[in-house]
Amino acid sequence: MKYRSTREPINTVTLSHALSQGLAEDGGLFVPVEIPEIEAEALTALEDASYVEIAKATLSPFFLEDPLHQEIDAICAEAFHFPLELVDLKDHTALMELFHGPSSAFKDFGASLLASCLARIHEGSEQPLTVLVATSGDTGSAVAAAFHRKPGIEVIILYPRDHVSSRQAHQLACWGDNVTTFSVDGDFDACQRMAKEAFADSWWRANVQLTSANSINIGRLLPQMTYYAAASLEYRRRHGVEPGFVVPSGNVGNGLAAVWARKMGFPIREVVFASNANRAVVEWVKTGQLKSFETVHTLANAMDVGAPSNLERLSDLYPEPPDWLGAESVDDARIRETIAAGEERWGQVYCPHTACAVAVREDLSTPHWIVAATAHAAKFETVVEPLIGHPVEVPPVLAELLERSTNRIEIEPRLGALTQHVAAAR
Ligand SMILES: *Cc1c(COP(=O)(O)O)cnc(C)c1O
Repeated sequence: MKYRSTREPINTVTLSHALSQGLAEDGGLFVPVEIPEIEAEALTALEDASYVEIAKATLSPFFLEDPLHQEIDAICAEAFHFPLELVDLKDHTALMELFHGPSSAFKDFGASLLASCLARIHEGSEQPLTVLVATSGDTGSAVAAAFHRKPGIEVIILYPRDHVSSRQAHQLACWGDNVTTFSVDGDFDACQRMAKEAFADSWWRANVQLTSANSINIGRLLPQMTYYAAASLEYRRRHGVEPGFVVPSGNVGNGLAAVWARKMGFPIREVVFASNANRAVVEWVKTGQLKSFETVHTLANAMDVGAPSNLERLSDLYPEPPDWLGAESVDDARIRETIAAGEERWGQVYCPHTACAVAVREDLSTPHWIVAATAHAAKFETVVEPLIGHPVEVPPVLAELLERSTNRIEIEPRLGALTQHVAAAR
């Protein structure tokens, strides 16, 4: 499989190249030149397979022609070391719990596979690879957990000091070893600006082999298909019908993975994106128009994206939004109401992102839906606990991280301040 840019489709690159480079040179996003289709017989054979086997079957065609293909067994076994849970609720509705990984959010699936690939691509190279991430919360902890102690790789995390919850801050700064965490006296945009400037800066270019692990990297999207593959097969095995998926969506990486999995032929009837008050994806799905909006701050803050980058990949595959694709927007009042009523209606406590998808499911009149649960409610306890009126139980993985000591460096929101620390540490 070769990869091309969404903007300049003529030149193609290998998977390893696309993973290392992140963004295409022309500013476009890498996409596979085609979405391979899986045969019906192969699908049937996967019905009793383990998660790792389903992941291998899903990802293998995307790794063909790349040296990493030889190691796909080891890569999948290493990356998918935590479980996916598909929980049947009532009313022909199931919850796909994606939060049992090291950072208690779905981004663990993508970060973990990207880390396993990059570690192999850069094995034995003289200069370490430095992964620089600006994070508003969830991405940084997934990336830190995934790359922690990977040989030949260093991680630098920049997070906005006053704009993450105390649990998020703890999860970002509890790693050490090859992970260095900077607490920036500014907002997320300031962190992102510093990261962008580093990529263009002469000192960094001369001294550091930089890469980013942000969600536009194709290496974070491909692995996200594996849980749609596994959950759709499992649902059909249990209930004899093809499910639809409702996916909480911000930058639409998770939703795009559902669309790609459907295109591959996994038994997925429909896909509905659930956005918060940021409406760009709803606009595209309902009108076919690509518009960017000012970002609105909401309770589901990991989905606060005014101009979702992955719409560029979606509209590349489907210039017209297909009729099996839907999208709805959910405002903060509805998020609150859905969380508050969650225990009574569904016997569940949701994070604010998952609550958007639950609300959208509640409005759908057709049966057989799987709602993607993107984070554990305990990560967003300051929003959730006042609404449900009692503490959220902290899962063991998160409790263990919160026990660890933390280490962070406070800096001003200037690239120079970061450069000084990084140069001194060399
Ligand atoms: C990142 C994130 C999302 C949004 O996912 P996209 O792939 O950006 O659409 C939703 N929920 C949680 C908990 C997240 O961390």
